[in-house]
Amino acid sequence: MTRSDREPGEGNKAPVSGDLAASTGGDSAHTRVVRNQAPHHQSVAKATLWVCGLGPDDGPAPCLLDGKPMDLTTRPPRAIEGFPGAGAAPAAVLLPARQGNPSPWVLIVKPGASVHVNGLPVLAGIRVASHRDEIRVEHQAPLYFSTETPATVEAFPGGPRPVHCPRCKLAIGAGAPAVRCPNCGVWHHQLEDRPCYTYAGGCAACGAPTALDGGYQWVPEAP
Ligand SMILES: [Zn+2]
Ligand SMILES: [Zn+2]
Repeated sequence: MTRSDREPGEGNKAPVSGDLAASTGGDSAHTRVVRNQAPHHQSVAKATLWVCGLGPDDGPAPCLLDGKPMDLTTRPPRAIEGFPGAGAAPAAVLLPARQGNPSPWVLIVKPGASVHVNGLPVLAGIRVASHRDEIRVEHQAPLYFSTETPATVEAFPGGPRPVHCPRCKLAIGAGAPAVRCPNCGVWHHQLEDRPCYTYAGGCAACGAPTALDGGYQWVPEAP
């Protein structure tokens, strides 16, 4: 049973146990999809948090999120190891859900804390962060969440099944210099004699611009 199967008006109810069973393993199609995910798709969840109020001009500065939970109450936000117990938890933490590809980032707000996303309070204490969300924690300068990450050349992590470059159609060897498109997550070769990622102005899979270290397509305006 999916959300869309429900009658109108049912959507606000908490899921009953039958729904939970269906979404966590009762559905064979769903389990098959999860099992088929290659490990490189489970690589570190990345995103960017734009932080205001740090420099002399107070303009937004990018802070790369690399899979670690972030305490949003400090400036700059600080990575925390693991998730602290409820009593010690910071008022607002941003962490990757570690499910799905790309993995969504989730904002967890402690009861009673004043945290607003796009001007609205986070009432349920949890919210999936969306591209361009403005996050305000208490009276601090705003943060902006972005799903973008700058494209960089990395050693291809490899996996159990061959992964083919969408530009040249050849397999990408484990450890080979490669670029993961920040927009669609598809890997391309980026060797000196086979610079598939930068070969054209657009990603071979999704067409997004392929400038290396070319910065961000979206930069929040200073508040
Ligand atoms: Zn290639
Ligand atoms: Zn792409």
